[in-house]
Amino acid sequence: MNYTPTEKTTVKRLPKRASYDKKIVQSILGEGMIAHVGLETDTGVVVIPMAYGFDEFNIFLHGSPSSRLLRKSDSNQICVTVTVLDGLVLARSLFHHSMNYRSVVIMGSAEKVDSDSEKERALDLIVENIIPGRTEGTRPNSAKEIKSTTVIKLPINEVSAKIRTGPPVDDEEDYALKTWAGVIPIKMSFGEPEPDPLLEESIEIPAHVSNLLTT
Ligand SMILES: Cc1cc2nc3c(=O)[nH]c(=O)nc-3n(C[C@H](O)[C@H](O)[C@H](O)COP(=O)(O)OP(=O)(O)OC[C@H]3O[C@@H](n4cnc5c(N)ncnc54)[C@H](O)[C@@H]3O)c2cc1C
Repeated sequence: MNYTPTEKTTVKRLPKRASYDKKIVQSILGEGMIAHVGLETDTGVVVIPMAYGFDEFNIFLHGSPSSRLLRKSDSNQICVTVTVLDGLVLARSLFHHSMNYRSVVIMGSAEKVDSDSEKERALDLIVENIIPGRTEGTRPNSAKEIKSTTVIKLPINEVSAKIRTGPPVDDEEDYALKTWAGVIPIKMSFGEPEPDPLLEESIEIPAHVSNLLTT
Protein backbone atom coordinates (compact mmCIF):
# COMPACT_ATOMS: atom_id res chain seq x y z
CA MET A 1 0.00 0.00 0.00
CA ASN A 2 1.16 3.53 -0.78
CA TYR A 3 0.33 6.77 1.06
CA THR A 4 -0.92 9.63 -1.07
CA PRO A 5 1.52 12.54 -1.14
CA THR A 6 -0.09 15.84 -0.15
CA GLU A 7 1.05 19.37 -0.89
CA LYS A 8 3.01 19.26 2.38
CA THR A 9 4.55 15.80 2.01
CA THR A 10 5.61 15.93 -1.65
CA VAL A 11 9.40 15.65 -1.70
CA LYS A 12 10.60 18.38 -4.05
CA ARG A 13 14.40 18.17 -3.61
CA LEU A 14 15.68 14.91 -5.19
CA PRO A 15 12.20 13.34 -5.47
CA LYS A 16 13.71 10.03 -6.66
CA ARG A 17 14.78 9.49 -3.04
CA ALA A 18 11.19 9.80 -1.84
CA SER A 19 8.95 6.89 -0.89
CA TYR A 20 5.31 6.74 0.15
CA ASP A 21 5.39 2.96 0.59
CA LYS A 22 3.75 1.88 3.83
CA LYS A 23 6.15 -1.07 4.29
CA ILE A 24 9.17 1.22 3.98
CA VAL A 25 7.68 3.80 6.37
CA GLN A 26 6.92 1.08 8.93
CA SER A 27 10.41 -0.44 8.63
CA ILE A 28 12.13 2.93 9.22
CA LEU A 29 9.88 3.61 12.24
CA GLY A 30 10.79 0.13 13.51
CA GLU A 31 14.53 0.77 13.28
CA GLY A 32 14.47 4.28 14.71
CA MET A 33 14.44 4.97 18.43
CA ILE A 34 14.11 8.73 18.75
CA ALA A 35 11.50 10.98 17.22
CA HIS A 36 12.12 14.69 16.88
CA VAL A 37 8.77 16.31 17.51
CA GLY A 38 8.21 19.84 16.24
CA LEU A 39 5.40 22.15 17.20
CA GLU A 40 4.53 25.80 17.51
CA THR A 41 4.32 27.25 20.99
CA ASP A 42 3.40 30.71 22.25
CA THR A 43 7.10 31.57 22.32
CA GLY A 44 8.06 30.09 18.94
CA VAL A 45 8.74 26.81 17.21
CA VAL A 46 10.33 24.03 19.29
CA VAL A 47 11.64 20.58 18.32
CA ILE A 48 12.00 18.07 21.15
CA PRO A 49 13.54 14.55 21.12
CA MET A 50 11.22 11.80 22.39
CA ALA A 51 10.76 8.05 22.48
CA TYR A 52 7.88 6.73 20.38
CA GLY A 53 5.86 3.66 19.57
CA PHE A 54 3.74 2.97 16.52
CA ASP A 55 1.27 0.63 14.93
CA GLU A 56 -0.13 0.41 11.42
CA PHE A 57 -2.15 3.60 11.82
CA ASN A 58 -0.63 5.88 14.50
CA ILE A 59 2.58 7.01 16.13
CA PHE A 60 2.37 7.39 19.92
CA LEU A 61 4.26 9.75 22.26
CA HIS A 62 4.12 9.78 26.02
CA GLY A 63 5.19 11.84 28.99
CA SER A 64 4.17 13.60 32.14
CA PRO A 65 0.82 15.44 32.12
CA SER A 66 2.87 18.56 32.96
CA SER A 67 4.91 18.22 29.76
CA ARG A 68 4.44 21.38 27.74
CA LEU A 69 4.93 19.43 24.56
CA LEU A 70 2.16 16.96 25.28
CA ARG A 71 -0.23 19.64 26.55
CA LYS A 72 0.38 21.80 23.47
CA SER A 73 0.15 18.89 21.06
CA ASP A 74 -3.42 17.89 21.87
CA SER A 75 -5.59 18.89 18.88
CA ASN A 76 -2.66 20.80 17.39
CA GLN A 77 -0.52 20.37 14.31
CA ILE A 78 2.77 18.64 15.03
CA CYS A 79 5.55 17.20 12.90
CA VAL A 80 7.37 14.00 13.89
CA THR A 81 10.68 13.08 12.24
CA VAL A 82 12.54 9.78 12.68
CA THR A 83 16.00 9.31 11.14
CA VAL A 84 18.21 6.25 10.76
CA LEU A 85 21.77 7.15 9.80
CA ASP A 86 23.37 4.47 7.58
CA GLY A 87 26.65 5.97 6.44
CA LEU A 88 28.95 8.89 5.76
CA VAL A 89 29.44 9.56 2.07
CA LEU A 90 32.85 11.03 1.24
CA ALA A 91 33.04 12.57 -2.20
CA ARG A 92 36.01 13.86 -4.19
CA SER A 93 34.78 17.42 -3.66
CA LEU A 94 33.64 18.85 -0.33
CA PHE A 95 30.46 19.98 -2.05
CA HIS A 96 29.26 16.44 -2.83
CA HIS A 97 29.84 14.96 0.64
CA SER A 98 26.61 13.44 1.89
CA MET A 99 25.07 10.88 4.24
CA ASN A 100 23.23 7.66 3.61
CA TYR A 101 20.02 7.72 5.60
CA ARG A 102 16.44 6.62 5.88
CA SER A 103 14.02 9.10 7.38
CA VAL A 104 10.32 9.58 7.84
CA VAL A 105 8.39 12.82 8.33
CA ILE A 106 4.80 12.64 9.60
CA MET A 107 2.60 15.72 9.90
CA GLY A 108 -0.89 16.21 11.20
CA SER A 109 -3.12 16.95 14.13
CA ALA A 110 -2.24 15.08 17.32
CA GLU A 111 -4.88 13.87 19.71
CA LYS A 112 -4.79 12.86 23.36
CA VAL A 113 -5.52 9.19 24.03
CA ASP A 114 -8.21 9.02 26.72
CA SER A 115 -9.04 5.34 27.07
CA ASP A 116 -6.87 3.59 29.67
CA SER A 117 -6.69 0.40 27.60
CA GLU A 118 -5.50 2.29 24.50
CA LYS A 119 -2.99 4.18 26.66
CA GLU A 120 -1.66 0.93 28.10
CA ARG A 121 -1.27 -0.54 24.62
CA ALA A 122 0.49 2.62 23.39
CA LEU A 123 2.90 2.58 26.35
CA ASP A 124 3.71 -1.07 25.62
CA LEU A 125 4.32 -0.21 21.95
CA ILE A 126 6.79 2.51 23.00
CA VAL A 127 8.78 0.04 25.13
CA GLU A 128 8.59 -2.66 22.46
CA ASN A 129 9.88 -0.28 19.77
CA ILE A 130 13.02 0.26 21.80
CA ILE A 131 13.53 -3.17 23.40
CA PRO A 132 11.52 -5.82 21.56
CA GLY A 133 10.26 -8.46 24.01
CA ARG A 134 10.65 -6.28 27.13
CA THR A 135 6.94 -6.08 27.98
CA GLU A 136 6.72 -9.83 28.42
CA GLY A 137 7.71 -10.71 31.96
CA THR A 138 8.15 -7.10 33.15
CA ARG A 139 5.63 -5.70 35.65
CA PRO A 140 2.93 -3.97 33.60
CA ASN A 141 1.88 -0.37 34.22
CA SER A 142 -0.51 -0.07 37.14
CA ALA A 143 -3.83 1.76 36.73
CA LYS A 144 -2.31 4.66 38.69
CA GLU A 145 0.76 4.81 36.45
CA ILE A 146 -1.40 4.79 33.34
CA LYS A 147 -3.57 7.61 34.74
CA SER A 148 -0.50 9.67 35.56
CA THR A 149 0.92 9.43 32.02
CA THR A 150 -0.22 11.48 29.06
CA VAL A 151 -0.27 9.72 25.69
CA ILE A 152 -0.88 11.42 22.37
CA LYS A 153 -1.26 9.87 18.96
CA LEU A 154 -0.64 11.19 15.48
CA PRO A 155 -2.20 9.36 12.51
CA ILE A 156 0.35 8.04 10.01
CA ASN A 157 -1.44 9.48 6.97
CA GLU A 158 0.32 12.61 5.85
CA VAL A 159 3.72 10.96 5.63
CA SER A 160 6.80 10.71 3.45
CA ALA A 161 10.00 8.69 3.61
CA LYS A 162 13.27 9.75 2.04
CA ILE A 163 16.19 7.42 1.49
CA ARG A 164 19.74 7.92 0.25
CA THR A 165 21.89 4.91 -0.51
CA GLY A 166 25.04 4.22 -2.46
CA PRO A 167 28.38 5.85 -3.30
CA PRO A 168 29.12 9.54 -3.72
CA VAL A 169 27.98 11.28 -6.87
CA ASP A 170 30.84 13.49 -8.02
CA ASP A 171 31.15 15.96 -10.85
CA GLU A 172 32.48 14.21 -13.96
CA GLU A 173 35.81 16.08 -13.98
CA ASP A 174 36.45 15.26 -10.29
CA TYR A 175 36.61 11.46 -10.86
CA ALA A 176 40.24 11.98 -11.98
CA LEU A 177 41.24 13.46 -8.59
CA LYS A 178 43.47 11.38 -6.29
CA THR A 179 41.18 12.01 -3.28
CA TRP A 180 39.81 8.96 -1.40
CA ALA A 181 36.08 8.66 -1.93
CA GLY A 182 33.51 6.16 -0.73
CA VAL A 183 31.08 5.30 2.02
CA ILE A 184 31.80 4.72 5.72
CA PRO A 185 28.88 2.59 6.94
CA ILE A 186 27.37 3.41 10.32
CA LYS A 187 25.75 0.74 12.44
CA MET A 188 24.30 1.20 15.89
CA SER A 189 25.62 -1.39 18.33
CA PHE A 190 24.90 -2.16 21.95
CA GLY A 191 27.58 -2.58 24.60
CA GLU A 192 27.92 -5.30 27.23
CA PRO A 193 24.89 -5.05 29.59
CA GLU A 194 25.76 -3.68 33.05
CA PRO A 195 23.56 -5.32 35.71
CA ASP A 196 22.01 -3.00 38.29
CA PRO A 197 24.22 -3.24 41.43
CA LEU A 198 21.02 -4.06 43.34
CA LEU A 199 20.10 -6.94 41.00
CA GLU A 200 19.76 -10.35 42.62
CA GLU A 201 22.77 -12.36 41.43
CA SER A 202 20.68 -15.33 40.33
CA ILE A 203 18.84 -13.27 37.70
CA GLU A 204 20.30 -14.01 34.29
CA ILE A 205 20.39 -11.73 31.28
CA PRO A 206 17.11 -12.35 29.43
CA ALA A 207 16.93 -13.22 25.74
CA HIS A 208 15.44 -9.85 24.79
CA VAL A 209 18.60 -8.18 26.17
CA SER A 210 21.14 -10.61 24.68
CA ASN A 211 19.26 -10.39 21.36
CA LEU A 212 20.12 -6.68 21.23
CA LEU A 213 23.82 -7.55 21.28
CA THR A 214 23.53 -9.49 18.05
CA THR A 215 21.59 -6.80 16.14
C1 LIG B 1 16.47 10.31 23.70
C2 LIG B 1 15.41 11.06 24.45
C3 LIG B 1 14.17 10.50 24.63
C4 LIG B 1 13.18 11.19 25.33
N1 LIG B 1 11.94 10.64 25.44
C5 LIG B 1 10.96 11.33 26.06
C6 LIG B 1 9.62 10.82 26.09
O1 LIG B 1 9.32 9.75 25.55
N2 LIG B 1 8.70 11.54 26.74
C7 LIG B 1 9.00 12.74 27.34
O2 LIG B 1 8.09 13.38 27.91
N3 LIG B 1 10.22 13.26 27.29
C8 LIG B 1 11.22 12.58 26.67
N4 LIG B 1 12.48 13.11 26.64
C9 LIG B 1 12.71 14.39 27.27
C10 LIG B 1 12.22 15.49 26.31
O3 LIG B 1 13.22 15.74 25.32
C11 LIG B 1 11.87 16.82 27.01
O4 LIG B 1 12.95 17.25 27.81
C12 LIG B 1 10.64 16.68 27.88
O5 LIG B 1 9.59 16.05 27.17
C13 LIG B 1 10.13 18.03 28.32
O6 LIG B 1 9.75 18.80 27.17
P1 LIG B 1 8.97 20.14 27.37
O7 LIG B 1 8.96 20.90 26.08
O8 LIG B 1 7.67 19.89 28.01
O9 LIG B 1 9.97 20.81 28.43
P2 LIG B 1 10.22 22.25 28.94
O10 LIG B 1 10.97 22.12 30.21
O11 LIG B 1 8.95 23.07 28.92
O12 LIG B 1 11.19 22.83 27.80
C14 LIG B 1 11.71 24.15 27.98
C15 LIG B 1 12.99 24.28 27.24
O13 LIG B 1 13.94 23.38 27.81
C16 LIG B 1 14.83 22.97 26.79
N5 LIG B 1 14.73 21.50 26.63
C17 LIG B 1 13.68 20.68 26.85
N6 LIG B 1 13.98 19.42 26.56
C18 LIG B 1 15.27 19.41 26.13
C19 LIG B 1 16.14 18.42 25.67
N7 LIG B 1 15.77 17.12 25.57
N8 LIG B 1 17.39 18.77 25.32
C20 LIG B 1 17.80 20.07 25.41
N9 LIG B 1 17.00 21.06 25.83
C21 LIG B 1 15.74 20.73 26.18
C22 LIG B 1 14.42 23.65 25.50
O14 LIG B 1 15.11 24.87 25.39
C23 LIG B 1 12.95 23.92 25.76
O15 LIG B 1 12.43 24.97 24.97
C24 LIG B 1 13.48 12.45 25.91
C25 LIG B 1 14.74 13.02 25.71
C26 LIG B 1 15.70 12.34 24.99
C27 LIG B 1 17.02 13.00 24.74
